[in-house]
This record gives sequence, C-alpha cells and structure tokens, in this order.
Amino acid sequence: MEENKLYRVYSKYLKEKYGEKVYKLPINLPVTCPNRDGCVGYGGCIFCGEKGAGFENLSNVLSVREQLIKNKDYISKRYKAMKFIAYFQNFTNTYLPLERFKGYIKEAIMDDIVEIDISTRPDCISEKYLKFLDSVKKEYDKNITVELGLQTVNYHTLKKINRGHSLAEFIDSVQRIKKYGFNICVHLILNLPWDDMDDVIENAKIISALGIEQVKLHSLYIVEDTIIGKMYKEGRIKLGSKDEYIKRVITFLEYLHPDIVVQRLIGRAPKEDTLFVNWDTSWWKIKDEIIKTMKQNNSYQGKRCNYLNGKALIKFN
Ligand code: SF4
Repeated sequence: MEENKLYRVYSKYLKEKYGEKVYKLPINLPVTCPNRDGCVGYGGCIFCGEKGAGFENLSNVLSVREQLIKNKDYISKRYKAMKFIAYFQNFTNTYLPLERFKGYIKEAIMDDIVEIDISTRPDCISEKYLKFLDSVKKEYDKNITVELGLQTVNYHTLKKINRGHSLAEFIDSVQRIKKYGFNICVHLILNLPWDDMDDVIENAKIISALGIEQVKLHSLYIVEDTIIGKMYKEGRIKLGSKDEYIKRVITFLEYLHPDIVVQRLIGRAPKEDTLFVNWDTSWWKIKDEIIKTMKQNNSYQGKRCNYLNGKALIKFN
C-alpha cells in the first residue's frame, strides 16, 4: 500500500490541486511575536529559541522579493519547478501594523506564486487583516492558507508551555478565517511531556470537528538557551520514547478526518542547534517506521473517525 493510501499526503494534494509539483519558498520577515516582546508575555513559548522556526531561512535583511527570487532560482534549477507557495514562516507574520503587512504580502505577488501561506498565532488574527487577504485572493487570484500554531488542545498544557493564549482564541481565529474560505493548517506537537494519549486523540477530534483543512505534526525538539532546555538539563521533564511518538502519530491519524491533509508527520531541526532532536534518528527514518507500522497494523487515517454527526444516533439508522 502506498504512503498516500495510509494518510492524505500534502505533496500529492498540491499536485492534484495545481496539476504539477509545487514548492514552498520560506520568507523570513523582520518580525517578532507578542509572546516574546511583552505584549502578551515575555520570553515566548518555553520551547521557542532565538531563531524561531526558521533554521533554513535566508536573512531577513533581504526584501521579500529578494528572498523569493533567490529561493526560486535555486529550486527551479534543482527540481525544474514552475509553481510556488510564498511561505511567511518565521515568528508571527501578522504581528505588525496593517500597512506594513500589506506591503510584505504585495511583494510576494508574482505570476508563478500560486498561493500565499502565512504562519501566525491564534491571537494575531483579526478581520482587518483577513479582509485585506481576501482582496488579494480576489484581485490576484491567489489561494490563501493561514498556518496557526496551537501545539495542543489541552489548555492546561498551553499554560505550562507559556503559549499566552488558550483554546478559546484558537476557536475564535478558526471561525473568522473560515468565513473567508481560506485554508487553515494547524501545527501540533504530539509529544509534549504534559500530554497523554487522551490529549492526542482530542487534538485529532477537535481539528476534525472544526473542519480544519491541514495539519502539521511536530515532535518536540529541545533548543539550547530555552526554558524547556533548562528544564531538560535539570531533569525536570521526561521525554517519551521514539516508539511512543510513533504510537501517538498513528493514533492521531486514525482519529483524524480522512479529508484533512497532513503536511508533515514529524518535526526537524539541525542537531547543532539542539540539546535533543528526534532520538538522534533522522526524521525520514522515523517517518518510514510510522508507515511500516501502519501497514503492519492495517491502520489508516480516519479509521476511528466515527464520532462526528450524532454518533449516538447510529443505532436508529
Ligand atoms: S508563538 Fe511561535 S514565535 Fe511566538 S514564542 Fe511561541 S513558538 Fe515562538
């Protein structure tokens, strides 16, 4: 059985949608995050390092256009790519004045950019910004995706990791984005030390119940000079095993609605920047293990997605 019969693979979804392979081009804006600069909190989420998520990004001294052209040149030559997604990746890309936000997004509008993908926090979504994105969608015929960092639906864990928002802000942002018909991709860390398998299942159920279009799964990596890094060194947190992570991913997929596209099954970070990453195993080996185990157990995405639309009424049908 091929990988995309086990779960809905992002690259295949893009190929079906755009008729050919599409590549994401990361953009690094000179922005920060309200959870780091004191607006919502100081110091950020306990796992967030100085570089945010942008280990492979170009310098944010370069303009959006320069970053796109540089990355596009490289990827076009290497893969003969023709279509791209402009991915505003690092930190909180809507946490800036509206006019500046508009300027950055407009710089990314080019013929071969088919989609604009903006990564942000649930408490940084507002109607004004969404209305502007809607005008971009209509005027320039660009698809819009908003990537929302959530990490877990467990609001007790959200406090422990110092997210600076709870589940309510996430639900509010999802409802607002949905009115404009944009795609939403939710980021989740499936092995936070305070979450158990019930939380993993609830993650899948809430994402499915809200009709989210895409998810990106991460394994927790520990960056030096972070609060969680200190906790790790002092032995104050216990990380689950690789096998436990694999089990969590498979259970999550089984509860996830089969239509939801999965951008990623596991996170990745350079070894030199981390105290712990992926049990010293390459991400693709872990991905292969997940697929192998799914095949062995006759497991697939949506296998246990039987809880929507009046589950208890089934006995009358
Ligand atoms: S919301 Fe994102 S950028 Fe902000 S502190 Fe948390 S992980 Fe870092």
